Order: sequence, then structure tokens, then C-alpha cells
Amino acid sequence: MNEVSFHNFRVSAAQAIANAHLQSAIDGATLKFRNGRRAMLADLPDVEAMRDHFKAMRSATLAHLTDYLEQFECNARAAGAQVHWARDAAEAQQIVIGIARQHGAQLAVKAKSMTTEEIHLNAALAEAGITSVETDLGEWIVQLAAEAPAHIVVPALHKTRQQVAELFSREVGKPLSADDIPTLTAEARRALREKFLAAQIGISGANLGVAETGSIVLVTNEGNGRMVSSVPPVHVAVMGIEKLCPTWDDAAVWLELLARSSTGQPLSVYTTVLTGPARPDDPDGPRELHIVLYDGGRSRLIGTSYEEVLQCIRCGACLNHCPVYQEAGGHAYGHAYSGPIGAVLVPLLLGLEQYEALPHASSLCGACLEVCPARIDLPRMLLDLRAEEVTHGIIAPPEQAIEKSAAWLLRHRRLFNLLTDLGRVFQRPLVRHGGLWLPRRLNPAQERQLPSLAPRSFHDLWEELAAEEAAPAPVARRRLPSRRTTVTLAGLSLLPLALLWRLLRRKGGKRR
Ligand code: SF4
Repeated sequence: MNEVSFHNFRVSAAQAIANAHLQSAIDGATLKFRNGRRAMLADLPDVEAMRDHFKAMRSATLAHLTDYLEQFECNARAAGAQVHWARDAAEAQQIVIGIARQHGAQLAVKAKSMTTEEIHLNAALAEAGITSVETDLGEWIVQLAAEAPAHIVVPALHKTRQQVAELFSREVGKPLSADDIPTLTAEARRALREKFLAAQIGISGANLGVAETGSIVLVTNEGNGRMVSSVPPVHVAVMGIEKLCPTWDDAAVWLELLARSSTGQPLSVYTTVLTGPARPDDPDGPRELHIVLYDGGRSRLIGTSYEEVLQCIRCGACLNHCPVYQEAGGHAYGHAYSGPIGAVLVPLLLGLEQYEALPHASSLCGACLEVCPARIDLPRMLLDLRAEEVTHGIIAPPEQAIEKSAAWLLRHRRLFNLLTDLGRVFQRPLVRHGGLWLPRRLNPAQERQLPSLAPRSFHDLWEELAAEEAAPAPVARRRLPSRRTTVTLAGLSLLPLALLWRLLRRKGGKRR
């Protein structure tokens, strides 16, 4: 099934662009995060060296991932945790459902986790008769609205407070005013506390795992990660196999870059570390801790030119700086992972054919690479995925034909020059104010004018400049090369055709 075809993406993006509220919500949130990131990184003594160090650590960990996974498993078991391995989403779902059933759980509370979004855990739990409640405020809002997250870090970015008030009123069974934010948050807190106390199982992801102690780390701003992992008697954490670092020194760098790149904070408000279940003298904590190490196609990428994408720490900085995400919004990507990281990761994990439009959801401006704390070269991978689409014949036949013709033409310089010279002649009736006037149906950019062909090509200017520099002394202005003269004459001979075309167009216009 084609999940995000070009058509689907264009339709969703057009809807998002037409939604003034969404546009202003995205602009406001992403601007705030961009400014926060800039200010927080400027605070560090040598942030570029820190990013280099982090990149090197992530690369080295992935190069020896099997060893670190074994070390992590061994130390987590030694600390009393139970470690499970899941090859794909179905296996991960069954492991979590199995643990829930083993404890007779009917209610689960969940902390925000992109990995559990990835495996559609809530839907699988519901099918198994287990109610799962999101406890991150943003995740709870999108769950109540039966929608997918619109941003990796801010899932309910697209919701107005009126919409939130409506959802909360329905949930708590009494009318709540959109203007009374303290009451809205107090009601949410009250409703969620009841769930924390009633749940038999807590579920989370893991921002990272530390191999040297077998610990997992949860990062939240609302403290719900701490509640989910300490109030219910059983806790299950689903962690992607790539979210591993060797030591606590590495984890410190990870955490420092994560919060600064993500929400522009020096550190997230709550950083929760779980090393095994609660000890007998601990005042709280789960009696059982399960860690599900989830592959889901990641191991397939190890050793390939796409391995680098596994260095992602889901900070969302690339979304906040991406001009396409800022216009199209998160839902156009058809997956919980949106923005530049989603455009690369989703086709790699779930199939390029199903998500053919995503590698094209980029202007290739390079902002994502510039801001990524792990310096992941997403633009290169977007281009590689586009090339794969051509190689595997995934793009639509007309587009394939156009791209093949363009590639052929670019390999034949003389013909290319001839056609562009002819184009300069034929475009004359269409050039207005330095741009090309085209009927709306022929102009994909619509609001913008396409640029006209420059009067002289770069190659011609370059050759002329090189010739002038090579000349021993200043010389009189050089005559045009004979090829150009010939072509210009050929173009002029076609001028009557252009005039005839213009005449016909006018007549057509009058008839209409
Ligand atoms: S690709 Fe880089 S910037 Fe984007 S979410 Fe991942 S770590 Fe953050």
C-alpha cells in the first residue's frame, strides 16, 4: 500500500498551508525552539568540539553495536531487569501484551515515546482489551483527538486551546473554559493522577541506554515519565537498539546536547534513571522492570551508507529549522516521525515504495545538517533515496521519462547549448519584468514567476573571461563565437513562428 504518495503529500501539505491557525502555531513554536537552541548552545564553551565528540561517540558505538548491546543486556540483567528482543513491531507488541496479560493488567499508563508510536502499541493494546492512557499532556491531547503527533517533541502543536478545552470537557464530563488555562491543566492533572494510581503497568520508551550499567534514561518536562516508571508495579520500556551509549560520560554529553537542541533548555526538567527494578528498601519504583530492545529494520542499516541516520537522538531540531516542515506540518509525512529525519528514516524502515514522496519533501537547503547535534548528513541521504527511486523505477512513468531525458540532455552539451539558445529566442514574447510569464496551468510555482533564461550562459561568460585573462594585453571586445552567431541567426529565423504563436494566443483569448 502506498502510504505517502506524491499526491497524498501534496494534498495534506496544501491543507496545512491553507490552515492559518496551524501555520501560526508552527511558526510560533519553531521560532521559539530555534531561538532557545541558539541561546543555549551559545552558552557552552566549545559547542562545535562537543558536537564533533558526540558524532564520533555515536559512530563508534554503532560500529560496535553488537558488543555494546550484549554489555547492556548483561548489566541490565545483573541489575534485575528482564531483557527482551523484538525483531519487528508485531514481536514488540506481543511482548508488551504478554507482560500485561501475565499481570492481569487492564489499564496501562504511558509516557511519550516515539518508538511505541512507531510500533502502534496503543492500537495493539486496545485490540488485546488493554486500555492505554498517554500521560504526556501533548500526547494525551492527540490521543483524545484520535490523531497522530504533529511534532516529535510537541505532539499537540497543531491544537488550539479551544480544541483542547473541548476535548478535556468531553473527557472529564463537564464544560471547561478555553480561557481558564489553570483549570484546564488542573483537570488534566487530576484525571491523569487517577490513571497513574489505577494502572497495573507503566510503559515508556527510553531516550538512551547506558551499556556500562545496563540503565535506561527517560527525559521529560512534566514528570510523567517518573510517575509512569515508579507508581505502577510493573514497568516496560521499549528502546530502539541504536539508542545506546557506552558510558555515563557519554550519556552526560548526550543529555546536554539533547535538551539544548530540542527545547532550548540547559537540561530537561526531569531526568529519570532506571537501573533494574526497585530494591527492597526503595520507597517506590516498579517491582518488575522489562526492557524491550527493538530492532524494526535498524540492524539492516548498519554497515550501509544510511547507518548514520541511526545516530539520531530525536531532538527535533531538524524539524524546527526545516522550511518544508514549517509549511507542510507534521501530518503530511504520514508517520509519527516527520520533518527531515522522518523523510529519511521512515522510507528506510518501512519501505521507499510506500513513502515515495518523503525524500522529496525537502528543499535541500542543508539547515537540518547544520543544526543536528550529531551532524547527520540528511541532505546526502535524501539525495541517495531519490536516486534509489529512479534506479528501482519507483517514481511515476512520466516523471521517469522527464528525468531520463534531462539526464541524457545534460550529457550532450552541444545539443543542450543549442536548445537553450533557441529557448532564449522563443521565450522573448513571454518575458516580463525579468521573469517568465506562463499560464497558471503551466506554472507549478503559481504565485511565483519562473526565472527566464539568462541572456548569456555561465559557460559563455566563463570562456570569455578566461580568454580575456589569457590575452597578453587589453584587446578590443571579442566577437561572439561563431557557434553562437549561427545559433542566434537560426533563432531569428524562427522569430516569425513565435509571432504567429503569439497572434494565435491573442485570438484564442478574444474568442474566450
Ligand atoms: S536528525 Fe539530528 S536534528 Fe533531527 S531529530 Fe535527529 S538528532 Fe535531532
